[in-house]
Parts: sequence; structure tokens; C-alpha cells
Amino acid sequence: MGLTIGVDIGGTKVLGGVVDDSGKVLATHRLPTPADDVAKTRDVIIEVVKELAAGHEIEAVGIGAAGWIDADRSTVLFAPNLAWRNEPLKDGVSRGTGLPVVVENDANVAAWAEFRYGAAEDATDSMVLFTVGTGIGGGIILGGQLLRGAHGIAAELGHVNVVPGGHVCGCGRHGCIEQYASGSALVRFAQSGAKDDPATAGLLLEKAGGNAGAITGPMVTEAAQAGDGVAVDAFDQVGTWLGVAMADMVQLLDPQVIVVGGGVIDAGDLLMRPALKSYQEQLAQRRNSPYAELRPARMGNEAGIVGAADLARR
Ligand SMILES: [Zn+2]
Repeated sequence: MGLTIGVDIGGTKVLGGVVDDSGKVLATHRLPTPADDVAKTRDVIIEVVKELAAGHEIEAVGIGAAGWIDADRSTVLFAPNLAWRNEPLKDGVSRGTGLPVVVENDANVAAWAEFRYGAAEDATDSMVLFTVGTGIGGGIILGGQLLRGAHGIAAELGHVNVVPGGHVCGCGRHGCIEQYASGSALVRFAQSGAKDDPATAGLLLEKAGGNAGAITGPMVTEAAQAGDGVAVDAFDQVGTWLGVAMADMVQLLDPQVIVVGGGVIDAGDLLMRPALKSYQEQLAQRRNSPYAELRPARMGNEAGIVGAADLARR
């Protein structure tokens, strides 16, 4: 089969790419997202697709968007960073471009890209992706297929409850794993650690102008890389919680591979080392039998367009 277009819709930019059936990106085009205007956002997507389609023979379009997508992969039910509420995106873009369109959740799209062409390209059956950014997203592949669930909202891995009555989550519940194993949690752990033990957080506090409340994610990463005790401890806490979540995935699904992506993975071993340790400890009773290998994501910023384009091809 020929070429398809993948479109990655973020809060600030719409990035489209022409992708071939080996996962190679042949051309890209990007425009700013008019995030607060539903009709304009759809028109920008159409413009990006038309620009790319003008120079290539395109068969279909896949769109990845943060939010809840219905089970028919056509309507965005709710998007946290955009104005879409029950937006029939598939029909709108299909009408505007004359091409078949599928719409998919952005974390599912990224998971598909890692499964087909990235960190789990050797896996034939199953993979779980955790995306660790400001929040936690995820995607699950089972039996070689993306697990979408009966209502299109499966694999909301960030909102599995781990601490009943714990820290309040953006979803309204208390104690979701997102509040313990995300980039936001990393900053919260570092801020409270620096307040409790300023002597161990010398480097971190220096970066934050002496104000623990001004500590940001990049500061925690830089300070941890330089050996700051509180910053390293914040990564240990996040990694430990992530290991708990990953071990639960093994109990539930027994996948071939678990992939960790998202912005926080840029910290590399600072995150992966405590995550692996915690994961193996949690799996203690199963370690005499094979279990999923942990790997960092490989597709980077191309995951959105490559995954969406490949889903459109199917
Ligand atoms: Zn939640």
C-alpha cells in the first residue's frame, strides 16, 4: 500500500507528515493550533493535509489528538487542551480533504508507533506504553491490535488508583498513579524535599533562586544529573511508583515488552534505574518465569505522525 498522512494535534501546533509503509517520514508541514476555536482548528488540519497531499499520492489520513475519542474513531468526545466537545472530526476533515480519515487518542497513536517501528518493533503480540510527561498516558497492544475498549477509552493508565484518599488528581479522584509517577509529581516531590531538607537540596535551591516553590522539572533533572540529593530522591520516588504500575500491568496482561516514553524519559537512567529496581522487586514472586522487558521509547517526536499514519493505512 502507498502513502498516508499522520497528523499530530498538540495544544500549540498541528504537525502533519507523509509516511510510507516502512514508517519513514517523507515530508512534514506544521501550523500553529488555534486551540480555543473549534472550526479554525479543523480548518488548520485540513490545510496541513492539503498542503502535504499536493505533492504526494495519499490514500488516507490518521489524526492523533489528546482526549477521549469515541469507539468508532470519528468523534472527539472531550479534549483537555482544546475546545473540542463532541466534535465530529472525522467527518469534518474527510469532507474538507476528500480522503478517508481515522481519529485516535494520542497515547494510543504513540503506542502503535513504538510497536510497529520503535522500541518494540520486534514484538509480535503485545506491548504496554507508559508516557510519562506532565501527566501519565498509555497505550496497550494485545494480540497485535490496539486495545481500544468497548467505549474507546481503554488504557487510561495514569488514572489507575494507587493511594486511596491520596493526592487529588486532575480527573477529580484522589490517589491516581499520575499524581505519583509523572513529571508533575517529580516537581512536587522535589519542592517538598527541598523545603524539608534544604541542606541536601543546595544545588536545586540555587537553580530556583532559593525558593523551593519555584523549582521546575528541568531544574530537577539538571540538579539530579549533578548529584543533588533531593533531586535524585525525587526521581527515585517517581521511578519506584512507575515500577509498581508496570508490575501491575504484568499481573494483568503479561505483555512482551513495556516501553516508557514521554518528556521525563529524557532523564534516562535517573528514571529508568529506580523504575527497573522497583519493577523487579514487585515481580518478586514471578521472577523465575519470563517477564516483560523494560525499554525506553525510540520514536521521539515522530511517534504521533508515524503512528497515526500507520493506523490510517489499516
Ligand atoms: Zn486521575
